[in-house]
Amino acid sequence: MRSLTSIWRRSIQARVVTSTIVLSALVISLTGWALLRDVASGLADSRRVAAISEARSGFKYAQTQLDATVETEPAMQSQTLTQMVDSLTSSRGAKRTYELVLEGPLSATDSGVPTRSSAAITPGSLPADLTTAVKDRPGTYWRYSNLALLGSAARDPAVVVGSQLRAPGSGDTYALFYLFSMENQQSTLDLVRRALLLGGLAMVLMVGGVAWLVSRQVLDPVRMARRIAERYASGNLEQRMHVRGEDDIARLSTSFNQMAASLQSQIRRLENLSRLQQRFVSDVSHELRTPLTTVQMASEILFDARETFDPQTSRSAELLKGELDRFEALLTDLLDLSRFDAGAARLELDTVDLAQIARQSADDALLARNGIAVRLIGADQPAIVEADIRRIDRIVRNLLANAAKYSGSAGIEIEVSQNEQCVSLAVRDHGIGLAGDENLRVFDRFWRADPARAQGGTGLGLAISREDASLHGGTLLAWGRPGEGSEFVLTIPKPEGTATRPAIVSVYA
Ligand code: ADP
Repeated sequence: MRSLTSIWRRSIQARVVTSTIVLSALVISLTGWALLRDVASGLADSRRVAAISEARSGFKYAQTQLDATVETEPAMQSQTLTQMVDSLTSSRGAKRTYELVLEGPLSATDSGVPTRSSAAITPGSLPADLTTAVKDRPGTYWRYSNLALLGSAARDPAVVVGSQLRAPGSGDTYALFYLFSMENQQSTLDLVRRALLLGGLAMVLMVGGVAWLVSRQVLDPVRMARRIAERYASGNLEQRMHVRGEDDIARLSTSFNQMAASLQSQIRRLENLSRLQQRFVSDVSHELRTPLTTVQMASEILFDARETFDPQTSRSAELLKGELDRFEALLTDLLDLSRFDAGAARLELDTVDLAQIARQSADDALLARNGIAVRLIGADQPAIVEADIRRIDRIVRNLLANAAKYSGSAGIEIEVSQNEQCVSLAVRDHGIGLAGDENLRVFDRFWRADPARAQGGTGLGLAISREDASLHGGTLLAWGRPGEGSEFVLTIPKPEGTATRPAIVSVYA
């Protein structure tokens, strides 16, 4: 059932074919029904007209017979009546298509009205209102009914025609009924119904087939476009659609190819530009390294000798050293990032226990210096992954330093947890927290929430940490609430595992 709904949702062709079949079945059923109704009423009408005229001549004949009868003696009269019924129903070789019922004399009351009939007909075959009409008034009356013989389950549709007869000799009245079977009309109707049903079914299937073919013609190029767009999205920019003919589909393919070509050239241009920028940053950083080392050495000398200077020069030597340290840190970060950008960063894998890293971090000197209390959660059980210990250390140290520098929190928690797929390590503080989309922006290069108060940071720490995590196939995610605190969760996949679902759900999520 679910696969049917998914086919319905995903395939235009299935929807087109199904709705065409349903609609054409509806139209064909309606037309068939109207046609069948017309044919049925036409057949019944012609049978009724023929039946009434045949019955009328029968009534005339019976009336002449009765007019000629002079006997008033009941026995003789009854014999005449039986003969009359016999002669009316003698079919002279052809199959009789009607039955006859004669009721009367209608004045007889003692043992009920005697009835003669050409066959054993069930009483229900004569409609009650027709009998009453015939008995009440002279004239010819008709009704549709069902003809059933006693002892047989078959009920044929029939038209019943009745009329009153009067015997002038005895003054008695009789009711004579003709029951014309409509079996032939019924079988004709059945034949027409079967033909309509089969024809309709064939038509619906044919229309469905045509819809399938037509929709395929239109959808095949669309499907091809989708496949090519998918390949395009996965980085295969060389893909093009096949252009055949000059119709709308061909024009669509041409436009698609033009779009693809233009996108490809734009992407190439941007790639080149970005490569150039990366090269530029990398080259500048490298070029700056050597002079910086020299300046750094000179500043060290000045810094060491600052006691011998006058206070103003001594302060300048201190400031110089501080700024040069910051400059060096920035250069190191930039070189690291350009290695990531150039795809040159390599992992040196080892077996690493994240729980042990968490335990070591709890004794970090920086935290102690800032008087920050650390609470360890879940760090008593080994949490082993294959990772580059240097990079993992760098990420965790950066998270701890950030908590100490920016959060203003008096205590932090380091939690380690794992599931079958991955191991997560979270650093949670209860400080200023992160507002709005800051949990995403903290990973942007050079982004600092408050550049004026950024206490020497370059704004590259978290960007590098995230690149380090990605290099492991892992993730580094942040959550926070303004004034309540923030939490950074590092997730590293186990061998054969994935880091799509961290093993820790942030308390600030
Ligand atoms: P930096 O290298 O300058 O330390 P980061 O990339 O590590 O920069 O951090 C970027 C910015 O994210 C910081 O300037 C700070 O505003 C914000 N930030 C980082 N960690 C926290 C935290 N624990 N609490 C509040 N803000 C933080």
